[in-house]
Amino acid sequence: MKLYEKYPVSLTNSLSGKKEVFIPVNPGNVGMYVCGPTVYSDVHLGNVRTFLTFDIISRYLRHLEYKVRYVRNITDVGHLENDADEGEDKIGKKARLQQLEPMEVVKHYTEGFHEVLRQFNMLAPSIEPTATAHIVEQIEITKKLIANGLAYEANGSVYFDVTKYNLDHNYGILSGRKIEELMESGRKLDSQNEKRNKIDFALWKRASPYHIMRWPSPWGDGFPGWHIECTVMSTKYLGETFDIHGGGMDLKFPHHECEIAQAVGANGKDPVKYWLHSNMLTVNGQKMSKSLGNSFLPRELFTGTHKLLDKGYSPMTVRFFMLQSHYSSTLDFSNEAMVSAEKGFKKLVQSLTAIKKISIEEFTSGSDEEITKEFDRLIKECYESMSDDFNSAKLIATLFEMSARINDIKSGNLLLSKISAVAFNAFKSAYVGMMVDVLGLKEELEAAGSHLEGAVNILIELRKKARTDRNYALSDKIRDDLQAIGVQLKDGKNGEISYTIE
Ligand code: AMP
Ligand code: ZN
Repeated sequence: MKLYEKYPVSLTNSLSGKKEVFIPVNPGNVGMYVCGPTVYSDVHLGNVRTFLTFDIISRYLRHLEYKVRYVRNITDVGHLENDADEGEDKIGKKARLQQLEPMEVVKHYTEGFHEVLRQFNMLAPSIEPTATAHIVEQIEITKKLIANGLAYEANGSVYFDVTKYNLDHNYGILSGRKIEELMESGRKLDSQNEKRNKIDFALWKRASPYHIMRWPSPWGDGFPGWHIECTVMSTKYLGETFDIHGGGMDLKFPHHECEIAQAVGANGKDPVKYWLHSNMLTVNGQKMSKSLGNSFLPRELFTGTHKLLDKGYSPMTVRFFMLQSHYSSTLDFSNEAMVSAEKGFKKLVQSLTAIKKISIEEFTSGSDEEITKEFDRLIKECYESMSDDFNSAKLIATLFEMSARINDIKSGNLLLSKISAVAFNAFKSAYVGMMVDVLGLKEELEAAGSHLEGAVNILIELRKKARTDRNYALSDKIRDDLQAIGVQLKDGKNGEISYTIE
């Protein structure tokens, strides 16, 4: 039995607004697409929250033994200023201002994005496609939409005909927007003259003579619209209908709404079974965003140099801070919340270090049923919390309970000799698995020394083995040689071995 059968996942589908049982298109496999960054500026902490949400989701699904294909794109063309169909390309503008090639801008910020994600211990996606590498496919689907009567050319640009689409389908199915209301609101833009209706959106835009990012197409030189890249890249790598599509809440409309219309219009199928939207990171209740000037760069947070910060915080503390709330709630950033996250994280990580060093041999094992029952309950709670819409906040509450038990073992309040080896090993592997594999939290206190720590743990294990084999000469040699390089081993009660490094 696979873990995903034992702990079936349910998730809140933004399409229905309800919690649904997760049933993938192909049993045992999960296809997940997440909108990646537009690489024209440094990622801020708000962006990090969204990518962290999907890092946790992909980690947990993998932990449950699903085979996950996680596709997260890089938007390197087509995203115009103000998220509109008019104005300069965000990347093109940066390139112009800095007198660089657009691809120099793209490379610089893509590397920065990867570096930030690595600092926060996020796993790389399975595929990271770029919009510029899929221009041919974007032209092809645009041709198909014209052929299906759902798009039209005007003055070298191509627009999606929302009103026509809405005759047979529901534009607004995801965001709940009403087409009549959309018709009334909205700003009047230049391209409105080309559009049949102002709610139509661009699939392809004609490039003005000054526009640097341009490609030949059947409609003349131009560049793709912002929404079409995600339709192309998600369905190319995951199929015409795939399991999960994610992104920040602010992308629901128009970006994701348009993605649905494009895919349904081209392929005649709903592209996504489950839409997941991560809520915003706020500062004093206001969405963190570059344009509002309230955003922090990760490095300002690590060094504590941002004006709103009292001091710096480590990447794992920030990661822990974000995981303490459910992805569907807003999360407000404050110094107080960070201070308490720092304390909480320290507690859990100390228990992680401690439990990794404890082991119970089968022959010394006890059989206290109460403890076995409690350990089983805690393990079950870990999985049930995460399977319930990836509730990392609830999981962390259980990990605190487990950490208290680990402290009891350390202090001798809970005697190892009473615990059955089977129950203990299941407990240990759940605690370590949830902390390290699922939440992606790691001991960073001695980040630079973590390899040394790992090596010392290996030697401790070898020394234990030497003692069990009654090879005292070897066990003493390991202890003495470690001491000679400043690592002091201490044999504690319960067979636990601790050490200090000078
Ligand atoms: P962008 O590069 O602007 O397209 O943003 C990349 C991702 O970050 C998108 O999924 C946005 O929804 C998300 N995002 C932007 N601001 C925030 C925020 N304050 N909190 C959470 N996610 C955000
Ligand atoms: Zn997208």
